[in-house]
Amino acid sequence: MDIQVMASGSKGNCYRINDGETALLIEAGVSLKTIQRACRFHLSDISGCLISHSHQDHCQSHSHLAAFGMDIYLAKDTLAEIKGKGHRYHALEPLKAIDIGSFKIVPFELKHDVTNFGYLLVSMKTKEKLLYITDSYYCPYRFSGVTHMMVEANYDVEYLRQNHHDGVINGKLKNRIIQSHMSIDTLLQMLKANDLSKLQQIYLIHLSENNSKADEFREQVQKETGVSVTVC
Ligand SMILES: [Zn+2]
Ligand SMILES: [Zn+2]
Repeated sequence: MDIQVMASGSKGNCYRINDGETALLIEAGVSLKTIQRACRFHLSDISGCLISHSHQDHCQSHSHLAAFGMDIYLAKDTLAEIKGKGHRYHALEPLKAIDIGSFKIVPFELKHDVTNFGYLLVSMKTKEKLLYITDSYYCPYRFSGVTHMMVEANYDVEYLRQNHHDGVINGKLKNRIIQSHMSIDTLLQMLKANDLSKLQQIYLIHLSENNSKADEFREQVQKETGVSVTVC
């Protein structure tokens, strides 16, 4: 599985994945120009774009991609929220699998402050399983046989408390983060609860600029899983 990170975090998110037969985008939260450059101006080689939810850092270029003829896949609520119009938009139902090229994709609901989908992508070509989870304080599902994970590690609650204490963030923002994003502790608990026997690689995504420490997160997740950890 080839995973290319164009951007990750509250300023923008966009990833390109490729199993050697089918290439997909996950999220469209960067400018069209950034996506075009990353794809070497071969947008037609991408079979579709999965969007998790309606926040700008995940969907800002959806209408440009649709205008370029790219199929956009997202939750029904998200489609209504972003006001996507036309035959390029495909509303997904939770837990109803779809096929795009060589990928079988299962959307599932996550806990955020708007409707938000995670995705399990199974490559029929390589038999690899990629789990994608972001912008969620909790994932209610368990998965087995996952080979690649892209998961949010947004904040450490101690840094969040300290930043609130020091006046770097206000109480409202602190509470919003706790009620909508995944802490490193929640992620470590989630990893413990899942079958990691096939896991090869983890990408830690959507780290908070102020409330996280990349090196510490990498070390903690490496210790828990024993696999290679990439911080995006
Ligand atoms: Zn986000
Ligand atoms: Zn969000």
